[in-house]
Amino acid sequence: MATRHNWTKEEILEIYNKPLMELLYEAATVHRKHHDPNTVQVSTLLSIKTGGCPEDCGYCPQAARYHTDIEGNDLMSVNHVKAQALRAKSAGSSRVCMGAAWRNVKDGPEFDNVLEMVRTINKLDMEVCCTLGMLTENQAQRLAEAGLYAYNHNLDTSEEYYKEVISTRGFDDRLETIDNVRKTNVTVCSGGIIGMGEKEEDRAGMLVALSTLNPQPESVPINALVPVEGTPMEEQAPVSIWEMVRMVATTRIVMPETQVRLSAGRTQMSREGQAMCFFAGANSIFAGDKLLTTPNPDVSEDMQMFKALGLNPQKPFTKKSKPETVEATESKYNSLGEKPKWSRPGHTIERNVVTEEKQKAKAKA
Ligand code: SF4
Repeated sequence: MATRHNWTKEEILEIYNKPLMELLYEAATVHRKHHDPNTVQVSTLLSIKTGGCPEDCGYCPQAARYHTDIEGNDLMSVNHVKAQALRAKSAGSSRVCMGAAWRNVKDGPEFDNVLEMVRTINKLDMEVCCTLGMLTENQAQRLAEAGLYAYNHNLDTSEEYYKEVISTRGFDDRLETIDNVRKTNVTVCSGGIIGMGEKEEDRAGMLVALSTLNPQPESVPINALVPVEGTPMEEQAPVSIWEMVRMVATTRIVMPETQVRLSAGRTQMSREGQAMCFFAGANSIFAGDKLLTTPNPDVSEDMQMFKALGLNPQKPFTKKSKPETVEATESKYNSLGEKPKWSRPGHTIERNVVTEEKQKAKAKA
């Protein structure tokens, strides 16, 4: 069956709510047609600039306003990033995802450093992904020229529920950023989080938004919320493994070619639970003891799991060939010093405001 770009919320909900055995069988069948079921990509997520973020994403410990316990740091040096990438490579990772807690990319020396990091990692024969916030077309072109393989910009949830999570940036800006990436040869990574208090309709709504993109994202991370103390979602109940398996399987069915990434929340899952996710079509994990700021299983534990399940780590550039790196001196794109007007909806999200006030009072005390 050809990839469809016209999925409706009703159709997706019907798939999500199928009897589990049927859902698993269907998803595994789609998975086998499009991917090697015994291969799973191992990626390493590196927080190159942590904390101090001006946004109000209700799930995120890096938002400055929630004063969580995470240790912030300024932008890492290129050498530090290179050393971490080499370590990740020797531990079996084929991809490095660099995350910076920024609202959007700003032209200037910090972005120039990120471009150098991209060049450096691409030369190590690893796939490079960045998640740096909103992005203009020129910035996307400069990343592409440096050798970026993928850009991550999550939709997080459905357009409707997004308004209950973030008030400082709009859903449309997210789509525009994805569109800007699509104007280059960089692949798109975009997914979301379940367990933020959304309804099943919102999970389906997010999958509608992703699957109706044409082309669909090459990579879709599915995260289970890790509630962090101090954030507005600190008391959110954990998602069950059944919800995770259903979400992975449904994603696999509606986006057959996509690399489905089992992302945050793996520490709460048993090996058996993760095996069910792989069977349902997940074919990537993040390795390393931290996922940006939240805990993640140890690399050696993951490798033991791979051994027990007979899984092999995916080689880099299996799905798409390695991009060329153009050196900064040869670049045909200049820094434009753009000041794009990304939106700020600014509506009130009760739980975000209450948390911010509470944290402010706590910091003062
Ligand atoms: S998710 Fe990203 S943009 Fe939102 S607060 Fe966290 S670091 Fe900032």
